[in-house]
Amino acid sequence: MYQEYEGRDLSGTVLRIVKSSIYDGNGLRTVVFMKGCPLRCKWCSTPEGINAKIETTKDGKLTYGNRMTVEEVMAEVRKDSPFYFHSGGGMTVSGGEMLFQAEFVAALVKQACKEGINTAVETSFYSSWEKIEPILACLNTAFVDLKVMDEARHRAFTGVDNEIILSNIKKAGNLDLPNFKLIIRRPLVPGVNDSEAELVALGQFLEALPAVQHLQLLPYHRYGTDTYRKLGIDYGLDNVETPSEQHMKWCQRITNNYVKTII
Ligand code: SF4
Repeated sequence: MYQEYEGRDLSGTVLRIVKSSIYDGNGLRTVVFMKGCPLRCKWCSTPEGINAKIETTKDGKLTYGNRMTVEEVMAEVRKDSPFYFHSGGGMTVSGGEMLFQAEFVAALVKQACKEGINTAVETSFYSSWEKIEPILACLNTAFVDLKVMDEARHRAFTGVDNEIILSNIKKAGNLDLPNFKLIIRRPLVPGVNDSEAELVALGQFLEALPAVQHLQLLPYHRYGTDTYRKLGIDYGLDNVETPSEQHMKWCQRITNNYVKTII
């Protein structure tokens, strides 16, 4: 039945496939984590997704990454179809940065869409619009991280400029595609991107974009620190605590003045 389709035999490097996730979109999701990311966020909780190559922990006990074709990934995704149907779930492609392997992801999303599977991506939008557009054309939901509005701080804490990210969010935020939802996420890192000025700038930027469904504020956590140790790389943030519920609500009140905000 699935013998022929465009991109079927393309191969990509997949970090892992997680079944039955409830955190990466509506319903039960199969999450395909791709390897490779051009950013270096100091709080990254999946350091094993950053390097585009397959890598092994220092003690040699764990290997991160696996070469798979689009069809091999689809075969895994299809296995959970009954759960998608009953829960309103589907497939989410995440990373690393899934746009690092944009051609592979475009073929995957397109095929899932053809088979009636709900599709979502989690991304930083740090890529050219030419790579993003073909993925959005058949996508149900894009969760886009907008980490810092202030340009210099964005560079200092993620290693890259935010100009292209803001430009891509603007373009996507003005799209009028049926069944497409754009949700912006802000990982709130105390002392980095949670000042009043930063949150007002974020709210004002999103307020002008009609396709943005809402903003989601996510509290910083020190997830992934054990993986840093196993890979022998330094964790980028010291002495930063998870924000309190009270602080999250304070941040929500500020951005809610401009854009619907959930935490
Ligand atoms: S964009 Fe995501 S995967 Fe890449 S470094 Fe930042 S947090 Fe990690």
